[in-house]
Amino acid sequence: MSEMLLRCPSCQKEVNLSEEVNLDILNTITHKSCEPQSSIKDSGTLEEMIDKYPFFESILHPLADEPLEEEQSK
Ligand SMILES: [Zn+2]
Repeated sequence: MSEMLLRCPSCQKEVNLSEEVNLDILNTITHKSCEPQSSIKDSGTLEEMIDKYPFFESILHPLADEPLEEEQSK
């Protein structure tokens, strides 16, 4: 099981849940102290952003792409 890892595109370092971040209009997370990639739409700790914006779920826990349609012919 892999730890969730979000990298700040500005400094290339990983962002921890408790770190203050900016969320920009392209839904990119950057450290609050780093240069934003775009216009900022929200800010807070990474944890707050994850709570607030459900789309992070799919980034942090990508759906396991089970090849369900693989041939099950008998
Ligand atoms: Zn950064």
